Amino acid sequence: QFHMIKYEDLQWDVSLGQGSFTRIFSGYKTDIRDGEKHVTDVFLKELDVVHKNYWESFFEAASLMSQISHKHLLLVYGVSVHGVKNIMVQEFVEYGALDLYLQRGRSVSVSWKLDVAKQLASALNFLEEKNIVHGNICAKNLLLAREGDPSQGSSPFIKLSDPGISVAMLAKDVILDRIPWVAPEVLESPDNLTLECDKWSFGATLWEIFNSGEPPLRGWDLDQRQLYERFLQLPPSQWTELADLIGQCMDYQAAFRPSCRSIIRQLNSLITSGNHYTSQLIIPVW
Ligand code: ATP
Ligand code: MG
Repeated sequence: QFHMIKYEDLQWDVSLGQGSFTRIFSGYKTDIRDGEKHVTDVFLKELDVVHKNYWESFFEAASLMSQISHKHLLLVYGVSVHGVKNIMVQEFVEYGALDLYLQRGRSVSVSWKLDVAKQLASALNFLEEKNIVHGNICAKNLLLAREGDPSQGSSPFIKLSDPGISVAMLAKDVILDRIPWVAPEVLESPDNLTLECDKWSFGATLWEIFNSGEPPLRGWDLDQRQLYERFLQLPPSQWTELADLIGQCMDYQAAFRPSCRSIIRQLNSLITSGNHYTSQLIIPVW
C-alpha cells in the first residue's frame, strides 16, 4: 500500500547520522510529470542492514503513513528497494525533531507550545476517528516544519513522523527504553496496541513540550521499570490545569484516559486561562 520509487530516481546528498534502526540522509527525488522534470528535497531513511529482519514492520510504517493524509502527519512518498537496501522516502522537514529543537534552548512562548500541543492533538483526533493506532508518539517523532515566531503572530507547524518498527517486534529491553512514552500495559502485551496507548504517549509528549525537550527520566536513578511498578507520575507542572491533563492521559487505567475531543477542549481552555504561566517550567526532581 505504498508507492514504489525507482532507486535510480533517488539522489543521496548528506548523511545525517542514524535513527533507532535506520541510517538517515538528505537527498532528492526526481520524477517526470507532464514531460517535465521535477526535483523534490527528500529525507531518506534506510533500514540499517543489521536490522534488516525488521523490513516488514518498516514497510508497514511506510504503508500506514501513505494511506492517511493530514496536514500534521508526515508525508511519505514511498519506498525504494535496492539489493539489501530498504529505503523510506519522506518529505524533508526543515527544522528536524522537536525534542532536539527545544533542547537547543531557543526560547519559545507558552502559546507556541500550546500550538504544538493542539496540532498534535488534531493529528491524534484524526487517527482516533479512523481507528488507527500510531504507536510511537514522542517529541523525537514530532518534526518542526515551520519555526514560527510568536512575537510576529506566526505559529509553529509540526508533523508527526512515522512510527518506525512496531513495538510488537521489539526486544524487551528496547521497549523498556521507551518508558515513559510507552503505555504501561504495553510492557505486558506489546502486540496489543490500542488508541489508549497513544493517549498515554501523548501525555508524555505534552510533558516534553512543556519541559523544553528535557529527557523525562533525567535524574531518575532507579531502573526505569520501577516507575511503572510503583505507579508513579512524571514530575507535575505547576500549571495545575496542564498537570491535570497530562495526568489524565497518563492514567494507569487505560479506560480512564480522555478522548481526543476532551483533550482538545482542555487544550483550548488552557489557552484562555494560562498565559501568565510563562516561566512555570519545573526542573524535574524525583
Ligand atoms: P524511531 O523508530 O525510534 O522513531 P527512527 O529511525 O525513525 O527511529 P528517529 O530517531 O525518529 O529515527 O529520527 C532520527 C532523526 O532524524 C530525528 O532526530 C530527526 O532529527 C531526523 N528526522 C527524522 N525524520 C525527518 C524528516 N522527515 N525530515 C527531517 N528530519 C527528520
Ligand atoms: Mg522516528
